Amino acid sequence: MTSPDQLRPVRRPTVSVDVGGVLVGSAHPIVVQSMTNTDTADPDATAIQVARLAHAGSQLVRVTVNTDEAAAAVPEMVAKVRGLGVDVPIIGDFHYNGHKLLLDYPAMAAALDKYRINPGNVGTKRHDENFTTIVRAAIEHGKPVRIGVNWGSLDQQLLTDLMEANAKAPVPRDARDVMIDAMVESAIRSAELAEETGLGHDRIILSAKVSGVRDLVDTYRRLAPRADYPLHLGLTEAGMGMKGIVASTAGLSLLLNEGIGDTIRVSLTPEPGAGRELEVEVAQQVLQSMGLRSFLPQVSACPGCGRTTSTFFQEMALQITEHLKRRMPEWAETHPGVEDMKVAVMGCVVNGPGESKHADIGISLPGTFEAPVAPVFVDGRLDRTLRGDAIVAEFIDLLETYVDRRYGAGVVAAGA
Ligand code: SF4
Repeated sequence: MTSPDQLRPVRRPTVSVDVGGVLVGSAHPIVVQSMTNTDTADPDATAIQVARLAHAGSQLVRVTVNTDEAAAAVPEMVAKVRGLGVDVPIIGDFHYNGHKLLLDYPAMAAALDKYRINPGNVGTKRHDENFTTIVRAAIEHGKPVRIGVNWGSLDQQLLTDLMEANAKAPVPRDARDVMIDAMVESAIRSAELAEETGLGHDRIILSAKVSGVRDLVDTYRRLAPRADYPLHLGLTEAGMGMKGIVASTAGLSLLLNEGIGDTIRVSLTPEPGAGRELEVEVAQQVLQSMGLRSFLPQVSACPGCGRTTSTFFQEMALQITEHLKRRMPEWAETHPGVEDMKVAVMGCVVNGPGESKHADIGISLPGTFEAPVAPVFVDGRLDRTLRGDAIVAEFIDLLETYVDRRYGAGVVAAGA
């Protein structure tokens, strides 16, 4: 039988970039990152959001640094994050005035763990001068950079040059094709300029984000073979709710399956008043669904059908899923490996026992007209049969016992 390792895509080889202690590159697990939406000039609100994102599992958190007030507040904000016991690397996102802010606020430049530069937003007249000023700040403070091209702010001069050259070609290509070339060229030429300025080859991460799934895939397919910098993947302006989740998942999955991508962000627009943690959960779920990383035990549940006429089955699947999420922060410390566990909660005997046998622990509820008993399978074998009103509580007890037995401290010690 083919093992999950054999099915995993081979990562495109890259150098490793150290971002505040988190290593990004093909030799390391794909890194989940996120971005705050608080006013960075408010160090309390930003520190709290950074900490929440880190607790949700974000391994890098980016904050916008857009004004003098924001730049001045960064050192205090970083200190507050550290005061909360959170050591997540914090990245500054610069547009238009990064070259000024990084020079005017050296404490801010020192406090951040990486700078994001958008080569389309460093000015047109003094483009190269402003760009290299930011790069020199990165060199002086020993920080890596992400050169983040975005099609909404693509270097207009470069795009114009490529469009004009294309118009003169014997067989001009369509504008979309040239736009993708411009994205890739902007990223590569900027990286070359950064290295010519003195930044180390292993201090650069690239991204080239667009908002359409097909455009994203084509852009990264062209960018990936051009250099061995790690690549940050994400669909920019993905949108709200299901649309943003599905579009991001489609784009990221296609590229990750080709071994392209070393760090990812899911750029969801939150519901008004909602937190930002959902984008972290979605990014984790994308990686776990593809077998690339494990973060949380996975629950396989059937969709239910006419054989499950009550809501009991749906409620049980939800309660088990919530229980696993609630327990995971503690288990992550005490029960290493539990994030790989598979749990099945199935609605009837049609597929229930079979799916439960494939899981580490599974339960198959009685469907309509079936005997009111729920067989529990552990490690592929029928362990016992539950019945009565306390099935959920009893199954959770069995789950806890299983986690302790399989992933508890004694198991680690015995295997050490
Ligand atoms: S396992 Fe049973 S309840 Fe679930 S979808 Fe299949 S037939 Fe329906």
